[in-house]
Amino acid sequence: MLKAIINAKIVFEDNIADDLVVVYDEHISQIITQDELMQFDNIETIDVNGAYLSSGFIDIHIHGSGGADTMDATNEALQTISKTILSAGTTSFLATTMTMSKESIVNALENISDNTDKVDGAKIVGVHMEGPYINPDMCGAQDVNYIQKPSFDIIDKYSNIIKMITLAPEIENGYEFIREIREKYPHIILSIGHSNANYEKAIKGFECGISHATHLGNAMSGFHHRDPGVLGATLNSDITCDVIADLIHTHKATLELFWKAKKDKLILITDSMRAGCMKCGEYDLGGQRVTVKDGMATLGDGRLAGSVLKLNIALKNMKENTSMSLIDVIKSVTSIPAKKLGLNSGRIEVGLSADMVVFDESFDILMTIVDGDIKYLRGK
Ligand SMILES: [Zn+2]
Repeated sequence: MLKAIINAKIVFEDNIADDLVVVYDEHISQIITQDELMQFDNIETIDVNGAYLSSGFIDIHIHGSGGADTMDATNEALQTISKTILSAGTTSFLATTMTMSKESIVNALENISDNTDKVDGAKIVGVHMEGPYINPDMCGAQDVNYIQKPSFDIIDKYSNIIKMITLAPEIENGYEFIREIREKYPHIILSIGHSNANYEKAIKGFECGISHATHLGNAMSGFHHRDPGVLGATLNSDITCDVIADLIHTHKATLELFWKAKKDKLILITDSMRAGCMKCGEYDLGGQRVTVKDGMATLGDGRLAGSVLKLNIALKNMKENTSMSLIDVIKSVTSIPAKKLGLNSGRIEVGLSADMVVFDESFDILMTIVDGDIKYLRGK
């Protein structure tokens, strides 16, 4: 049966409309006026009482949430992540692996292959491999012991589900590896990250096929006016990038600077680990012990270890601390990542998947709809 959302402030790409109705089944089938809705006699209406309605959020870098991690390599873990992040408005995500043993990464990928269609919360739209082809000097919370030399062992077998690889171009045979991946698997987005490249080496990486930068500013060579590093190269090029807008990984002034430099090339991510949406305490990330306290996840030596950020809070942080408009922040987690990944979603537009989210002025999520089904309702 067709459904219609009424009394919503609909966030489109360039305007917010409060006089339209979205009609949908699995896909968005019509966008009409209230008067036109009268002509339907067999339609279920959902009144959202003036709340915002936008396309569902897409998280391209998330390891875990709700106590589960992609590296647990079980159906239950993926199901837990998929269901937990509905409360953040997320309707699609890239299950993100860590730098661990080859066997662990293969187990995680095999599990994702088997279970992608079996989760019934947010959709798994592919895999983001964070490492293991990174620079040990910029390992961040990735385990330095498992960093590997460029190889097609894993990529060849799972190229159908891998959508993104975070790597460091300056490692041995790095540029050749990047060129080969681009040639063999043009659908895989190559992202610079955990990289200590200088400006020139980073730019060379972009020329070879890197088109994105992972958690901009974090685990990469920073900006110095005489040595602008990976950060300077990213800001000075037209590649897309993502940021962890938790106000811990990135200062609010830096977030504003990134926005000014990157505009429609900026994507918000959570980089959430298993403690996402959980209480303070001790957790594990890629085999390492992590303490979560005051919204911060750290390793024993104080290094930041992923985040416990929720995607709707990232939006709120950007809206409140930068000059981004509501439309800008919504685009950074909807149409921009959807375009990058080639998804049939990301906008409120006829023909696209009915992945939608209803939220209030404070970015509290009231309802999350995936392929036309209400999967999350606040308080239920
Ligand atoms: Zn990560």
